Amino acid sequence: MRGNFERAPARVYWELTRACDLACRHCRAEALHEREPGELTTEECQGVLRQLAAAEQPLPHVIFTGGDPLKRPDLLALVRYAVALGLGASVAPSATHALTQEAVDALKAAGVGAMSLSLDGSTAARHDGIRGVPGCFDETVAAAPRITGAGIPLQINTLVTAETEPDLEAIAGVVAGLGAARWSLFFLISVGRGRTLTPLGAHECEATLRWLAVRARGWPFVLTTTEAPHYRRVLVESMRRAGASAHQISESPMARSFGFRDGNGIMFIASNGDVTPSGFLPLAAGNAREGDVLEIYREAPLFRQLREPDGFHGRCGICRFRTMCGGSRARAYAATGDVLGEDPLCAYEPAAVV
Ligand code: SF4
Repeated sequence: MRGNFERAPARVYWELTRACDLACRHCRAEALHEREPGELTTEECQGVLRQLAAAEQPLPHVIFTGGDPLKRPDLLALVRYAVALGLGASVAPSATHALTQEAVDALKAAGVGAMSLSLDGSTAARHDGIRGVPGCFDETVAAAPRITGAGIPLQINTLVTAETEPDLEAIAGVVAGLGAARWSLFFLISVGRGRTLTPLGAHECEATLRWLAVRARGWPFVLTTTEAPHYRRVLVESMRRAGASAHQISESPMARSFGFRDGNGIMFIASNGDVTPSGFLPLAAGNAREGDVLEIYREAPLFRQLREPDGFHGRCGICRFRTMCGGSRARAYAATGDVLGEDPLCAYEPAAVV
């Protein structure tokens, strides 16, 4: 049931710039208002895209993020270039005045495959309060129909913290109303400005994941989690309780995500070219200016270690779900300084090595 992510990442999250007009108080990128001189140039970005396009099929999907990728005047050109090479390309813009219908239509014409917006509260007071940016909720709600109206699949990203968890049911209602195709829940990792918010405890997280496993069946969008791969364990346990066989589980749609985690299926490229296993795991295995990014993904000792769950430490190393799950490597590192350590957000207590 192991995901085959040895040769290439399935998804490349690419922080084109740290510049953003919002500078939300929990921003992973610790966004700045102005672009920095060290960003990869257009030509360097095109070179990286050619490297990614040299992978075997299926080719990686690139998610241009930031900061606000709309701050890069070459964004459309890069989307066009990626699509022409056969790569899927999505864009994760910030909800600002720059996200006009014109901008969305231009991205559609360039071939963008999906777009995402962040929504951390069901009301303006909640969302803007979490982000520390007045008016952000209204911009988000206004931008969503521009995206869906252009025929671009919309993903809504929501941060799960002690502050937002009680609001999830109401946020789900807003997500449905916006016509989103996918709702991605990011379980907070306390890095960068994210330290200003409170992560869930392991038992609270378990309760939330179990609630999601039941509740998601009735939602008109696909639910995914980021940095909470143990949602797969919760889903598998739920299927087993319902009588599903191992074959049925391995043939279910969620099995496609088995093994997918930081460094195994996921690669992040920072605005200065640093290549890391995820945007929340600040360990550079190389730099796009100095080497082929696919080569870094395949050969760097850090990435290779992250693809070997038998070498993980603590509970994740002996857990029978370690191959399909393996825990959040970024959270293990943030919490313990050990990138192979156990994920403290998981409440599961493995009995012994299986
Ligand atoms: S102990 Fe680790 S590998 Fe096992 S389910 Fe929890 S996070 Fe996943």
